Amino acid sequence: MELKETLTRLVEPTIPSGSEFKNNKLIREAFLHYCDDVKCDKLGNVIGLKKGSSSNYKIMLAAHMDEIGLMVKHIDDKGFIRFTFVGGVDQRILLTQEVLIHGHENISGIIGNRPPHIQEPEERKKAIKVDNMFIDTGLSAEYVKKNISVGDFITFKRKPIELLNNYFSSNAFDDRAGIVVMLYVLEELTKLKHTIDVYTVVTVQEEVGLRGAVVSSYGIYPDIGIAIDVCHGNTPDSPEYETQKLGFGPALALGPNIHPKLFERLKSLAEDYKIPYQLNPEPSCTGTDAWAIQITKDGIPTALVSIPLKYMHTTVETLCLDDVRMSGRLLALFIASLCNDFVEGLTCF
Ligand SMILES: [Zn+2]
Repeated sequence: MELKETLTRLVEPTIPSGSEFKNNKLIREAFLHYCDDVKCDKLGNVIGLKKGSSSNYKIMLAAHMDEIGLMVKHIDDKGFIRFTFVGGVDQRILLTQEVLIHGHENISGIIGNRPPHIQEPEERKKAIKVDNMFIDTGLSAEYVKKNISVGDFITFKRKPIELLNNYFSSNAFDDRAGIVVMLYVLEELTKLKHTIDVYTVVTVQEEVGLRGAVVSSYGIYPDIGIAIDVCHGNTPDSPEYETQKLGFGPALALGPNIHPKLFERLKSLAEDYKIPYQLNPEPSCTGTDAWAIQITKDGIPTALVSIPLKYMHTTVETLCLDDVRMSGRLLALFIASLCNDFVEGLTCF
């Protein structure tokens, strides 16, 4: 699989949380290529099934399709648009962004502010609050009001940028990169034997409360659940002990959200197959779909595999494609390694 090309294709549709139904066509098509069946549930989760050769057991992989964004809150008499957040947006990154407003038609806009020359000296030292920001479309108030409504989604406009050393940057790599990992797993599984049924769930509304994972894991009721998401990549301004290095392999979470036997199996497979990996201690809630999956019904043995990502929740989220490949390879080997005895043993300590 050409990872760069697949990731570029998948970040093209903009999918702020709550708009997934409208924009998931490309994702559905990508999974149809590898799965025996692909369907959408009532919340909009895209669920693929690749049948195993002879098992009564199910594994569910989950990566979320939604991304953070903005929403129209008010349009003033001059046609300037006030907005609010969808998901965890860092308001410091908003100024000077180019955005796309998804009204009757897609309308471009920019987020501007007064230049430094006409700001008070104290003002220049502070980040501008969202309440003082607005979107300028350059269009008449009449045109804006006819084509844009309160509640319309707004997304950031950006094209992926290729950097050195297989680094790649764009918005929405959180968590389209996880979706690419799932596709890579499915492609690898066409070459490996697996007995267990594999459900791939592209979840909705993760950024606003893990909601797609809640209903999909309830519906599927898997024997094993693995969330694939991003974790914080190391940057010059962040401590090494709280971040993971780009290019050093998938980060394997451990802690109360993670079943120890799943962690151990992932770790030992990485060692056996010489796949680099990093440890990702998560002493509490992981804040990912793994958190929701784990407490479904009477409990699901769950793991979390993460791709290190710098500048999360910005328009320059940056990852290393090698980590995407290594995560996919490790998870495919994990699935191929599963036998009935192992799955049944997950409840024996
Ligand atoms: Zn995420």
